Amino acid sequence: MLWPTRWFKKGAGIAPSGKVPIFLTNTLSGDKEVFISHTRGTALLYSCGPTVYGPAHIGNLRSYVFSDTLTRVLKCGGYRVLRVINITDVGHLVGDGDEGEDKMAVGAEREKTSPEAIAKKYAELFIEDLEQLNIDTSDIRFPRATEYINEQIVLARTLEEKGFAYRLKHGLAFDTARFPGYGRLGNVDVAAQRAGARVDADKEKRHPADFWLWRSARPHDLQQWNSPWGRGNPGWHIECSAMIRALLGPEIDIHTGGEDHIAIHNNNEIAQSEAALGRPFVRYWMHNAFLTMDGEKAAKSLGNVVYLSDIMEHGYHPLALRYFFLQAHYRSPISFTWEALAAASAGLERLWALSRAVADESARAREASQSRTAFLAAMRDDLGTPQALAILWETLRSEEYSPEEKWGLIEDAEAHLGLKLTEPPASNTVAGADIPEDIARLLAKRATARDAKDFAEADRLRDELETRGYHVEDGPAGPVLTKRTL
Ligand code: AMP
Ligand code: ZN
Repeated sequence: MLWPTRWFKKGAGIAPSGKVPIFLTNTLSGDKEVFISHTRGTALLYSCGPTVYGPAHIGNLRSYVFSDTLTRVLKCGGYRVLRVINITDVGHLVGDGDEGEDKMAVGAEREKTSPEAIAKKYAELFIEDLEQLNIDTSDIRFPRATEYINEQIVLARTLEEKGFAYRLKHGLAFDTARFPGYGRLGNVDVAAQRAGARVDADKEKRHPADFWLWRSARPHDLQQWNSPWGRGNPGWHIECSAMIRALLGPEIDIHTGGEDHIAIHNNNEIAQSEAALGRPFVRYWMHNAFLTMDGEKAAKSLGNVVYLSDIMEHGYHPLALRYFFLQAHYRSPISFTWEALAAASAGLERLWALSRAVADESARAREASQSRTAFLAAMRDDLGTPQALAILWETLRSEEYSPEEKWGLIEDAEAHLGLKLTEPPASNTVAGADIPEDIARLLAKRATARDAKDFAEADRLRDELETRGYHVEDGPAGPVLTKRTL
């Protein structure tokens, strides 16, 4: 097969030395395993992407900061990472299985426009959100499901020809009973799932676990295509199998997603791809735990979500959210509260201040140290970000390390964590007394505006600070705030 190198930046990694093992928890085995890629020096990585019928919420964003951290660890370990995140712009259904309303139609109806316009708007917003979180999107391929309808049809047809699918009045369904080991990811008890499923929702299917590969169009469906099974639209799961095959090949190294995808979506991907291609599909499955709000999972359908834009409107730097995520291990649930975000923001501001001071003291010269070795070991041990951050804090506060050793660690921490530690943005760290909260917020907003090169907004905020009696001056170590004496 042709490796799709032209879609990825050249030289996006160096050949691995083979001396630095990386351990990852594989949902397939439930164990931590040493990572060995199929092709030496290259890691093929796919992450289930968002359905673009509205903005991605911060729970979704946790999933992509996790896969970005994984990418960083692989790159720092010497791998060239070919990375794909799909954009679901076909209106699959709101429910987890095959029931519910068509999400893209819901979005189009809400904004009185077409599914295409909704998809374009929210795909762009999603990519902007990733960039705000310091994810290098120029290095990721974002295929859209509507661009791969043909590939999805070809895969479904292969499954039908091989006897893994059966036709129904309303489309084509995958026959899970024909695929040995169906449900092995996460050891899903398929028998119980079948027994407990709502049979009435899909009377036509042989088993409730069977799923649509193609579904006939209903008269009001806004998105529909021709196929060997008549006009209709592809099932939800087939797009990931088809796009992985088209862009990365028949077998990939790592597939990531939120843990909600294990039971149905990812098991269905395995069934489709392995049945059609007759070979293993994914070597390492990795899943992030949920972000919760008041003890409940954050989900658009539950209406309890927060967006990155809300966080920025509150005056926080977007990287405060990244730091908040990294404080927890990706396999542990995290509970979002505004207080926890404020604490994360304060922590990151302090890290930036320490980093600015070390940059000055070391003149940005780096030296190796024991703490650097410990940091790398923590990150390569299944992305141990809480341990790695603890090592970073301890080292920066310690008097036992030289400024050069500290700077060496900061550079490594930046490469792995992506918190702009080596180039801290203008911040509201001000020498001296406490700043009132409303003033701190204005300063943080100004920092965000400057970061986004929105200098008009930054100037407006500076004027607002002036009218409130504060003067801000941008020094080499960040903005310096002084209270005007009246
Ligand atoms: P979706 O658009 O629902 O397919 O979600 C996109 C990605 O975000 C998937 O990998 C989901 O598993 C993940 N996800 C959704 N909700 C959350 C949450 N509350 N916490 C963490 N990950 C989530
Ligand atoms: Zn997927």
